[in-house]
Amino acid sequence: MIANVRRAEEFADVIEVRFDCLRADELESAFDRVESIKPLLATFRSSEQGGKGTANLNARSSFWGRDLSKFWALDLEEDVASLAPSATKIIASFHDFSDVPNDLANIFSRLSETSSDLIKIAITPVDITEALPVWKLLVKEQESKKNIIPIAMGDAGKWTRILGPAYDAFMTYASLDEASKTADGQITARDLIDVYRVKDLDRDTRVYGVLGDPVSSSLSPYMHNPAFAADGINAVFIPFLVKDLDTFIRRMVRPETREVELNFAGFSVTMPHKQNIIKHLDAIDPTAEKIGAVNTVKIDGGGKLTGYNTDAHGFITSLKANFGEIKDVRVGVFGAGGAARACVYALQEEGADVTIFARDMSKGEALANNLNVGFRRLSEDRPPVVKTLDVIVNATPLGMKGPLENDSLFTADQLSGVKFVYDLVTRAVDTPILAEAKKAGVPAIGGLEMLIEQGLKQFEIWTGRAASAEIARENLLDRLRKR
Ligand code: NAP
Repeated sequence: MIANVRRAEEFADVIEVRFDCLRADELESAFDRVESIKPLLATFRSSEQGGKGTANLNARSSFWGRDLSKFWALDLEEDVASLAPSATKIIASFHDFSDVPNDLANIFSRLSETSSDLIKIAITPVDITEALPVWKLLVKEQESKKNIIPIAMGDAGKWTRILGPAYDAFMTYASLDEASKTADGQITARDLIDVYRVKDLDRDTRVYGVLGDPVSSSLSPYMHNPAFAADGINAVFIPFLVKDLDTFIRRMVRPETREVELNFAGFSVTMPHKQNIIKHLDAIDPTAEKIGAVNTVKIDGGGKLTGYNTDAHGFITSLKANFGEIKDVRVGVFGAGGAARACVYALQEEGADVTIFARDMSKGEALANNLNVGFRRLSEDRPPVVKTLDVIVNATPLGMKGPLENDSLFTADQLSGVKFVYDLVTRAVDTPILAEAKKAGVPAIGGLEMLIEQGLKQFEIWTGRAASAEIARENLLDRLRKR
């Protein structure tokens, strides 16, 4: 703990020392030894309030009875609030680790009646809009000049941690590293400062983000935030966990109905909302309309939403850059999901000879008929089909990190004679099919190429400017390696 306090000094403005994470026999010596050049915040929480140990009220009361003058502030829950010494700054805190209480306003008034200097309220929303009550407290209480720290935990509340300080939250909490997170949804201090640039954000910051469920593994923040920073653009890109898209658009986006002003300027849209977003748009780009899926939304000054699809562009641009002209080339697209759809559309536009291969006959045939290309069932017996193809596109999750990470559609032997392999799966290392292609001497690229190209196009749609592919690659690879 002492060593971690030293590490935190590098980037924290205030260091919270969670005494409840120590054993009773460690507490004494830690208390005596903990020192810092940065202000220290002491916390000793009960297990009901999310504390890590088993300290009862007696143990906690005796802790708060010590000489605590070396701490900048003390974080006390309601049951021990009366023990607060008068000389030190006091944070009165409330945590709900599983829900959003209905009576948040009452809880807030009770905490306001204590002699605290700051009020911290942490709740746990499941969907993004459930974080609104805590955000509204922040907006409302600023009028009465209350110092408040509003936190919505979990992925659905990440935006409150990132945007809080720009909207005058007294502070935001961050973890030392991935391994030492003390609450769900907590972001590392490095990411909060270097990726999200939390210290530079203000109310003029244009807010972008990815709408999806799940969004925790999205790489887009690690591409768009460095691009904004490199171009000196006052904008931030945030992962938004959206389960109910209709409610999100109504309560947070549409100028006529929204309950908060967050300066939204655009979104990336990912599964499962790429189709559902269309009904919320004011305008749609013809390509996105033909594909039937939108992965990019631009919001203009008047709040008008326009949808685009940059997946098709990202795929075909990277394929042509690495393979060359694709007209009349025999391409097999494996998979019949959202990514396959964008790829097949783009290949069709370029005059390629496309066949879809999918295990689900009805899904595959429907997509093939819709886009007017060939279809073949992907059976366990795959080898014969490869002989009829020049280019293979893997648009299935085979090779993705997780249960399918060692699976490849084809072996090196089976790939011999193929001219090019494009695996849409994005990893820092070669996926199995890329490794097999290498073994067979077949040129191949991975999903990072499409990810970068579709993101560069998004950036251009949003800002009218060109982002750097090199900066994107460097940051995305760095992030992928840390996974
Ligand atoms: P999706 O909509 O869920 O579609 C996945 C397709 O793969 C479905 O046709 C599915 O068939 C098939 N599939 C799943 N497991 C399979 C298996 N074990 N064997 C054979 N087929 C299988 O997913 P998506 O959004 O299209 O994404 C597909 C892949 O592309 C993912 O790996 C994703 O990460 C990648 N991707 C990359 C980018 C990029 O920018 N690089 C962008 C988008 C997607 P069933 O319907 O029968 O399950």
